[in-house]
This record gives sequence, structure tokens and C-alpha cells, in this order.
Amino acid sequence: MTKPIALIAGGGIAGAVAALALHKAGWAPRIFEARSPGADEQGAWLTVAVNGLSALRALDLDPAVVTATGFPTPALTMLNGAGRRLAVLPLGGPAADGTTTTTIKRADLYAALRSAATERGIPIEYGRGLRDFTEGPGGVTVTFADGSGAEGELLVGADGIRSRTRELLDPSGPAPQYLGLLNAGGFTDGPVAAAAGQEPGMVHMAFGRRAFFGWATAPDGSVWWFANPPRKQPVRPGEFTPESWRAFLIGLFADDATPAAAIIRATPDVLGPWNTDDLRRVPVWRTRRAVLIGDAAHAVAPSAGQGASMAFEDAVTLGLCLDGRTDPADGLAAYEQRRRRRVERIVAVGRRNGSGKTAGPVGAAIRDAVFPLFMKLAYRKGDPQAWILDHRVA
Ligand SMILES: Cc1cc2nc3c(=O)[nH]c(=O)nc-3n(C[C@H](O)[C@H](O)[C@H](O)COP(=O)(O)OP(=O)(O)OC[C@H]3O[C@@H](n4cnc5c(N)ncnc54)[C@H](O)[C@@H]3O)c2cc1C
Repeated sequence: MTKPIALIAGGGIAGAVAALALHKAGWAPRIFEARSPGADEQGAWLTVAVNGLSALRALDLDPAVVTATGFPTPALTMLNGAGRRLAVLPLGGPAADGTTTTTIKRADLYAALRSAATERGIPIEYGRGLRDFTEGPGGVTVTFADGSGAEGELLVGADGIRSRTRELLDPSGPAPQYLGLLNAGGFTDGPVAAAAGQEPGMVHMAFGRRAFFGWATAPDGSVWWFANPPRKQPVRPGEFTPESWRAFLIGLFADDATPAAAIIRATPDVLGPWNTDDLRRVPVWRTRRAVLIGDAAHAVAPSAGQGASMAFEDAVTLGLCLDGRTDPADGLAAYEQRRRRRVERIVAVGRRNGSGKTAGPVGAAIRDAVFPLFMKLAYRKGDPQAWILDHRVA
């Protein structure tokens, strides 16, 4: 019997994992990625939480193999701008199979997931951005920006925060919203004196006097970092040159007693700026034969550390709900039923975490005074993040 075809718009995390999950469920997936191969540097690196990585087991993939170029980061140290430790918090795991929250370069994660798809015979077509689709009782027809087209029995919109699929499903639906924070990031090309010797496996995050900074030291001694300068207006393309962006960041951290400024100075290519956006409740996730997953359905602010994990969880759940033999409409309804409440709670967490990064001097003094006690109380009866990190989709 011929397998039904699933057309997947987007070859990012959600798209690649959905292809693997649908393949396992008896579909013939095809991935259509708008960008050209190798255009995935944006975002620098991710810390992917154990709840997301664990979902790969349902696809007969070993999370440790998929993230082999990354390194485990099961804990987080929070500091203030004076370098004082405010709290050490667990980031989840290890799971029963040893999987822990892991830090990995974005481009490496995409490459590992896409090569897992290719190994299972799933085609990936680059330079094919979805432009339009129509749906009939028996299937979907899509057209791409280059004028070409494809037909199948299902369309999966895994095309990220600015999803074209979402626009087509509901033209009056919500647009991404800027959250008042910019993003920068990068990698030093070796150890940085002030940061060297930091505990392996520890992500550090500091509420600097003027901006938030995070970093982790990789096994080769290089330091992977990000920064979140607060700013009312989103950045416009071309507003900074690489030199002015670097100087701006170094200036922001100049008065902090953390290694932030030294780390930025030791970074050959400072990435960014990007705006931090999220997506509030998206009312329409699906029709009878089309569905949104990952950031297309519910973009979580980076402050939650869960966007990638939600993409993994969505994609694996989609495969569990669609057996490839029956009308997909029921499976898509079951998928939404299993996912909507959880992801919307996590989007709310991301917003809350992000707003804490922009406290003024008075807010910062209060935060520094109460944060350690607050965390102690919050963790007294176990990890308050357990509902996020201990969740397993299969
Ligand atoms: C600065 C930053 C830091 C982050 N840090 C973390 C972190 O530490 N931990 C974490 O869990 N999450 C983090 N996130 C969030 C995480 O990156 C996303 O939630 C995750 O990438 C979502 O995966 P996705 O596959 O849904 O979307 P994406 O990874 O964005 O993939 C979407 C894909 O669709 C393609 N595409 C777009 N339009 C079309 C089209 N019309 N047709 C075909 N293809 C199309 C894109 O080129 C892209 O390849 C961060 C995000 C940002 C911006």
C-alpha cells in the first residue's frame, strides 16, 4: 500500500523531528526548507532541556548521539552584577537513560536532526519556501515561492515564528510581539581568564547592572555566551555595524564584576542583534489536513529555555496522534488537545522570566535581597519546574 504523503514546511527542529515521527507512524514525509543549506548560524547556541531531548527515544534515536557535539549542562548558577551568587538551580535530569539538559550549537542541532531524517530516506528540499496551499477532501496542494508545487495528504506548518502556514490558516491571527529585549551571542576562540575554571556542566546567568548575560564553558575551554540588552524599540536592520554592536555590548557590561566584558572582547565574531519576540495564544492551529507545530504555533521567549523542547515534544506527539491510515482530522484534534494547554503555560513562563531581566536599580536591589530566599522557599518542596522538565511525551 502506498504511504500517505506529509508535506512539511520548514526544516528546523520541529520540521525535522516531525518528519521522523510521521515516518515512524507510516507516512511518507517530504521536508521543504525555505533557506539554502548551511544558512542556520542565527541563534548561535541553545540549551535544550531534558524533557524535549527525551522525546527522541520514541523515534528510536539516542539523544546523546543527536547532541554529540554539545555538552551536558544540568545546572544553572544565577549571579548579580557584582558577581555574587544568588542561587544554583537544577535544569532537569538526568533521565533514566542518562539524558540531561544539553547545550549545543544551533547549526549542529539542525544538521544532526536533518541527517537522521536523510538516513531514514526522508527527502529535504532546500530553497523551497511555502507560499500558499489549498485543501480538498482528499488532500492538500502547496505552492512555493519559486512557483513550483507539491501534493500530499497532510501539510505540517513547521515554518517558525513568522510562519506563512499560520498566516494562511488564519489571516487575522496574532503576529509575534516584541518583548523589550535584544539578543546577542557568540563563542570565544579559547578560554577566557576570568571565566576559565568555571564548573563544567554549569550555565551561568548574571543580572548585570545594565543588561542580562549568560555563559557556559565548553569542554574545549571556549566560552559560549548570550546577552539581553533591554530596549523599548526593536532593532532595525543596519542600525548597528559589527564594531558598534560590540562596543555597545562591552560598554553595557563595563561596570559588572562578571566576566561578561572580557568574554565579549575575546569573541572574534559577535552575533546579533536580534529582537526577542514571542507569540501569544494562536487561536487556529489546524484544519482537517493542515496543522501548526513548534514556533509556528506558540513561540516561547528564549528566557524559558523551552522553545526547542516544545518543538521536539510537539513533533513527537504529532506522530503519535496520526497513524497514517485514517482521516487525519481526528489525529490533529487529538494533537491539539494534548499540546495546547502545556505550551501556553510555558509561553507565559517565558514572558515572566524575560520581564525579570529588565529591573531598574531599585528593582535590582530588591531582587538581589530576596532572590536567594525566594528560591529556597520555591524549591523547598521539590523542583517547581518539575511539571516542565519531568514531562515525557511518550
Ligand atoms: C536568540 C534565541 C535563543 C534561543 N535559545 C533557546 C534555548 O536556549 N533553548 C531553547 O529551547 N530554545 C531557545 N530558543 C527558541 C528556539 O530556537 C525555537 O523555539 C526553536 O528553534 C523552534 O523550532 P522550530 O522548528 O519551530 O522553528 P525554527 O527552528 O525557527 O525553524 C523554522 C524553519 O522553517 C523555515 N521556514 C521559514 N519560513 C518558511 C517557509 N515559508 N517555507 C519553508 N520553510 C520555512 C526556516 O528557514 C527554519 O529553518 C531561542 C530562540 C532565539 C531567537
